[in-house]
Amino acid sequence: MAECIFCRIVRGEISCDKVYDTGQVVAFKDRNPKAPVHVLVVPRQHIETINDLPRHPELAAEILNAIASVARACGIAESGFRVIGNANRDGGQEVPHVHFHLLGGRQLGAMVSDAS
Ligand code: AMP
Repeated sequence: MAECIFCRIVRGEISCDKVYDTGQVVAFKDRNPKAPVHVLVVPRQHIETINDLPRHPELAAEILNAIASVARACGIAESGFRVIGNANRDGGQEVPHVHFHLLGGRQLGAMVSDAS
């Protein structure tokens, strides 16, 4: 996946503001933050969507552990945070490399305003 932007970031070919790295999972600040804390939690392995994650249960557990660790490290574990994983077209996934948005540092609005 030579051209995948997140593959290039985790390989160090594109710079990022890294906040966490377990070897298998990397977390870095989103370049277009939607909250005072907006971190992307990304596995090194190129997996396209959340649909594919159940085939990698150990990695899925490590991602969840990374999310909790980053929330603690960023000081939002107790104040609260939101985790968003966009998948495919209707989910608004722009980068086809599985990732989770960790948002916090302010009161976040209602999650869904229109259920239609
Ligand atoms: P999604 O819509 O869930 O695929 O989200 C992709 C996210 O990646 C967006 O919030 C972008 O702002 C973020 N993003 C894209 N390129 C970079 C980059 N080079 N460094 C940091 N964040 C990025």
